[in-house]
Amino acid sequence: MLKRGIKLFKIFGIEVGLNWSWFLIFILVIISLSTEYFPTLYPQFNTITNIILGVITAIFFFTSILIHELSHSVVANMTGVSIKRIDLFIFGGVAQMSSPPKTAVQEFLMAIAGPFASFILSFFFGIFWLGFKVTDFSILPIIAFFGYLSLINMILGLFNLLPGFPLDGGRILRSILWYFTDDILSSTRIASILGQILGYGMVTFGSISIFLSVFIYQLRNFSGLWPIVLGWFLQNLAKGSYQQEVIRSSLATVLVKDVMRKQFQTIDPDTTLDNLIRNWFMVYDYRIFPVLENEKIIGTISTEDVKIIPKDRRLTTKVMEALKPIKESQIINSESNVIDTLYKMNEIQSNYLLVVAQDKLVGIVHRNDISRYVKLKRDFKI
Ligand SMILES: [Zn+2]
Repeated sequence: MLKRGIKLFKIFGIEVGLNWSWFLIFILVIISLSTEYFPTLYPQFNTITNIILGVITAIFFFTSILIHELSHSVVANMTGVSIKRIDLFIFGGVAQMSSPPKTAVQEFLMAIAGPFASFILSFFFGIFWLGFKVTDFSILPIIAFFGYLSLINMILGLFNLLPGFPLDGGRILRSILWYFTDDILSSTRIASILGQILGYGMVTFGSISIFLSVFIYQLRNFSGLWPIVLGWFLQNLAKGSYQQEVIRSSLATVLVKDVMRKQFQTIDPDTTLDNLIRNWFMVYDYRIFPVLENEKIIGTISTEDVKIIPKDRRLTTKVMEALKPIKESQIINSESNVIDTLYKMNEIQSNYLLVVAQDKLVGIVHRNDISRYVKLKRDFKI
């Protein structure tokens, strides 16, 4: 999972966040626009014009990326895959899905929505660019602005349509293969191999173009660095997403009741905090315990909850007064799939869930237990 950055705003029920790496790329884009792109195309602009134009254009460029990502998410939410958060990071955005794509058709629609939005934007900016151009509009920076945004959205749409997973084009390809073969794993394998080939291809292309421009044509042009970085990133993602799919498919038949801990300690609400510290926290390797009253779970008590109670009150304060009431989102059914469990843990940012069957606490499932299970399953080849 990505490290969180800052939260920007919420739109269509989707939280938009900025990853820290994004600031770096934002500044790089401004620099390349104001010192290279605009000065080359419009030598008559002065430095101030170039900088202002660079900043405004960069803001619209990143808004375009956000619109592209939002289109994926809105279609996902409309077709039943809930996306609650998008993080904009170094190469665009990552949507935090709370469940994986459900059907091939659903994935197809979700994947195609982003490039479609980029083409619409390109068309929209292109109309303005053309309109100003043919009417011989005298404020040239505005024409430059519309021209660049139309072009970059076109490139964004086309680049994302390249058929390598996990680019949108790769997802479209996977969904088509998945639709016809009904085999998501081998479809992912083919699409991600293409993603790796594409990634290495871009690295090779970038290296050759740098070599040619620097050594053969004696130019100081390093624009070949872009495909190298993007290509390297793509092949890495492609490899990772296939491994993820392997884990996902090996977990497809595993239920919560297979991996949960059936033996666990529970706390009576009348226990004093002092007793709880001495006989539970100091004895067992847990930082949190479920609290049960008449066999019904009423809450949890953690080291954090106890720490905030002053030391001299721990002898008299009972667990009842310090516990956190149980929330529906902390509970999972023992018959649930572990993949859903992991998504649910991600959603509430917790490393464990309480397993309840017929209103009774029957187990606790920890994130580590699931990874241990996957590892053992792989080791024993079962
Ligand atoms: Zn996309």
